[in-house]
Amino acid sequence: MKELSRLLGSVPGSATMAVSEKARQMRAAGKDVIGLGGGDPDFATPDHIVAAAFAAIEDGATHYPPAKGVPEALTAVAAKMARDNGVKVDPLSQIIITPGAKWAIHLALSAVTNPGDEILYLEPCWASYPPMITLSGGTPVPVGLTPADNYAITADAIRACVTDRSKALMVNSPNNPTGRVMTEEEADAVVEVALEHDLYVLADEIYEHLIYDGRRNISLSALPGMAERTLTINGASKAYAMTGWRMGWLVAPAPIIALASKLSSQAVSSAASFSMHATAAALNGPQDCVAEMCASYASRRDFMVEALNAIDGVHCRNIEGAFYLFPSFPGSDRDSIQMAEFLIEEALIAGTPGVAFGSTGEGHIRFSIATAKDDLERSVERLAQVAPRL
Ligand code: PMP
Ligand code: GLU
Repeated sequence: MKELSRLLGSVPGSATMAVSEKARQMRAAGKDVIGLGGGDPDFATPDHIVAAAFAAIEDGATHYPPAKGVPEALTAVAAKMARDNGVKVDPLSQIIITPGAKWAIHLALSAVTNPGDEILYLEPCWASYPPMITLSGGTPVPVGLTPADNYAITADAIRACVTDRSKALMVNSPNNPTGRVMTEEEADAVVEVALEHDLYVLADEIYEHLIYDGRRNISLSALPGMAERTLTINGASKAYAMTGWRMGWLVAPAPIIALASKLSSQAVSSAASFSMHATAAALNGPQDCVAEMCASYASRRDFMVEALNAIDGVHCRNIEGAFYLFPSFPGSDRDSIQMAEFLIEEALIAGTPGVAFGSTGEGHIRFSIATAKDDLERSVERLAQVAPRL
């Protein structure tokens, strides 16, 4: 048989989805595994959003929608950008609604990348970034951030990785997996280097509404000089507990959306019609459901960070946003893959090995706290029991 795709053969499958899948299989086999792997809110999608989807289906939203999305969803995203992000965009030429933010990232990368282009990303990063860069024909270049200085983003750290092949920089705030939220100073550092080296910036704001302790999200596209070079990625999965609806969007200058729309129309046609109507209802409707879920994640964080730090051999930084904890295990000889295996085998806790988020994530395990409180409590009890053997 002739050789299959070398490009696809060169990248791993999604590490986070693999952990969720393993937990699912162990549960199906009768094991009481606590799934702290993939970041999937345990909340049901709010009722008014579900009702909007049913109404849309009954209203005939069961046909091919326009490639860029139905007008209701496009105008809802434009209104949301003006309201939450201080960014004015034209709904018809600057937005595409996508099946999940994952596809928005793929479109964004594909629209700016030519073979040999280097795409920088801040590490630790969401496990899918480097493979996605490779799949869109670019070369992934990590900018390593370190826990010792709380993963601070500095202009010098980014600059040190820039070459004449650098094309774009990926930024994710609030961050998966570190839970950091970009400060004004850090945003200025990103802007400084982007303008200095004419870089596109992919701003992944999917955890925008999950921010704690009065901090606020900074949208890079709202900063001076950035609108023409920023590709904003966002979606409904996290804020509205809509992971299964597969709803994301990309907001960018019109020529970028025109290219993204060509790829999307050829590869997937569009996102699902009734999911788009549901998303319009989510964005236009009451936002107190988002605040309530966020408050619940904050209280789970408070419980978990304290409880984990009370266990000998576990160290857990507090988080500022998103819903992942990223504890380390000082004193343990295991690497993060061995540690994740140990935890799932010995404590029936599924977590994602830190190395999946880049070499600077080694020594850590990522726990999703978008998980029912009693499961979090049980996971702490189990961890405390195995702690002497960590
Ligand atoms: N960006 C980040 C940082 C994520 O953690 C995720 C995980 N879901 C996504 C994008 C994609 O989300 P979705 O495809 O469900 O919209
Ligand atoms: N983004 C989530 C995570 O990091 C969901 C799984 C995935 O799409 O990777 O766990």
